[in-house]
Amino acid sequence: MASEKEAALAAAATPSDAPTIFDKIIKKEIPSTIVYEDDKVLAFRDINPQAPTHILIIPKVKDGLTGLSKAEERHCEILGYLLYTAKLVAKQEGLDDGFRIVINDGPKGCQSVYHIHVHLLGGRQMTWPAG
Ligand code: 5GP
Repeated sequence: MASEKEAALAAAATPSDAPTIFDKIIKKEIPSTIVYEDDKVLAFRDINPQAPTHILIIPKVKDGLTGLSKAEERHCEILGYLLYTAKLVAKQEGLDDGFRIVINDGPKGCQSVYHIHVHLLGGRQMTWPAG
């Protein structure tokens, strides 16, 4: 499997508003382990987990929000809802002692999928600074 950095660089070379693998996950065209779903968001386990709990939370409608750097004022509601959902899922997963939220942005942020997503990581002691 390509490293995170290689995946990010490869993804950066493709049109950032093109459909991504997450569209197929939303449409259930490819399998994923869904842990939470409502009309606005989907949360599913990362295929390459970096912690005992590693869940991605995404909006069902991208609306140009390929990454956080593309956010506009109209996205404020969904951005807040993504974080609120992360909190609900953290509770559901029993991450009562803490967890980490990550949003990678752009090649230098190691973003590899251009459909905004919140990483929820937990189940182990996190370290700082992040890599
Ligand atoms: P990024 O690097 O863009 O912040 O995060 C993208 C994440 O999506 C990575 O952690 C990667 O493991 C995950 N991912 C990529 N393809 C798939 C897939 O097909 N299914 C699932 N469940 N996760 C995926």
